Amino acid sequence: MPTPRAYSVKAYSAASAQSPLAPTTIARREPGATDVKIDILYCGVCHSDLHFARNEWNFTQYPAVPGHEIVGRVVAVGAGVKKFKVGDLVGVGCLVDSCRTCPDCRDGFEQFCTGMVMTYGSTDPILGGGTLGGYAQGIVVTEDFVLRLPENLNPAAVAPLLCAGITTYSPLRHWKVGPGQKVGVVGLGGLGHMGVKFARAFGAHVVLFTTSPGKTADALRLGAHEVVVSKDEAQMAAHAGSFDFVLDCVSAQHDLNAYLNLLKRDGNLTLVGAPEKPLAVAAFPLIFRRRSFSGSLIGGLPETQEMLDFCGRHGITSDIEMIRMDQINDAYERMLKSDVKYRFVIDMASLR
Ligand code: NAP
Ligand code: ZN
Ligand code: ZN
Repeated sequence: MPTPRAYSVKAYSAASAQSPLAPTTIARREPGATDVKIDILYCGVCHSDLHFARNEWNFTQYPAVPGHEIVGRVVAVGAGVKKFKVGDLVGVGCLVDSCRTCPDCRDGFEQFCTGMVMTYGSTDPILGGGTLGGYAQGIVVTEDFVLRLPENLNPAAVAPLLCAGITTYSPLRHWKVGPGQKVGVVGLGGLGHMGVKFARAFGAHVVLFTTSPGKTADALRLGAHEVVVSKDEAQMAAHAGSFDFVLDCVSAQHDLNAYLNLLKRDGNLTLVGAPEKPLAVAAFPLIFRRRSFSGSLIGGLPETQEMLDFCGRHGITSDIEMIRMDQINDAYERMLKSDVKYRFVIDMASLR
């Protein structure tokens, strides 16, 4: 096989689970016929980036370049590209390819395709080695995995929609959250604050559960009708058996059973948080009231485009704190202390 043609871009990578992220240079493939070459303007910082950089899920290949909330400008397109032209503002989320032929791909659920290629965390089918994410000056992605962005929104605040947005939008839609329902969102971080915004936009009565009492006023401003400090057992008991649906967005160990007990008959708890270690589920909170517990992974390409268009129509973006690329290691430490309001976004101009 001929060596694929490549060019280099500046990036930030981790050399091992113990190393901080540091400047580096990485290879990107030269755009092929269906590829879009993108100059990255902004990249959101997902807690998954931190889990991955530190190999908490045990599949990281090093060097690791995280970043899957990418907003950029098209600077070149392959001869066969139909949907995009030079100058377009575009997004790339957690996926950069999939098999395109399996039942999941045909149904638009590329996130469940066993052949999916993640933006980082997969093996690069063209260049080999691990796929390298968006903490970089540029990226090359096949056009079917590039998203159109609404023109009316702040592009930096759109970046987190590409993961935090779709990861909360998709389960809320799947479980048909809407008017007349009482819905809980657990954890006011990047995912949680988008979950609050979407659940409110879909017309539900929204209750935010937090371990950080200092986030109460923000949660109300972001759209919650009520805020519960989850360490307060009396407040938790007051809501027992009353929820239709709870979306758990927590990144670390916590008690799932406390949230199962909040559900009504046939209520559902969906976990989107992906903590490093297994979480214990007790039998009784599930078998009483026929409750269910499930998970959800990002969203497919059609639903991600639907979510972006919905955000454009409803003026929904992420609340962000912009950082320079060289502040990423501090940002990770702050994320571990739940000190994010409510998503860090890297201004990629700081890497040039
Ligand atoms: P984040 O911004 O760090 O937010 C996590 C929030 O969880 C914190 O702000 C905090 O909220 C709460 N929390 C943290 N430690 C806690 C603890 N020990 N006990 C209880 N609550 C705690 O993270 P994120 O980017 O939103 O990501 C959240 C999780 O979702 C991560 O595990 C990430 O990998 C995962 N994820 C999954 C998918 C998917 O497709 N399923 C996609 C993206 C991310 P309070 O201060 O309000 O308590
Ligand atoms: Zn993510
Ligand atoms: Zn497939």
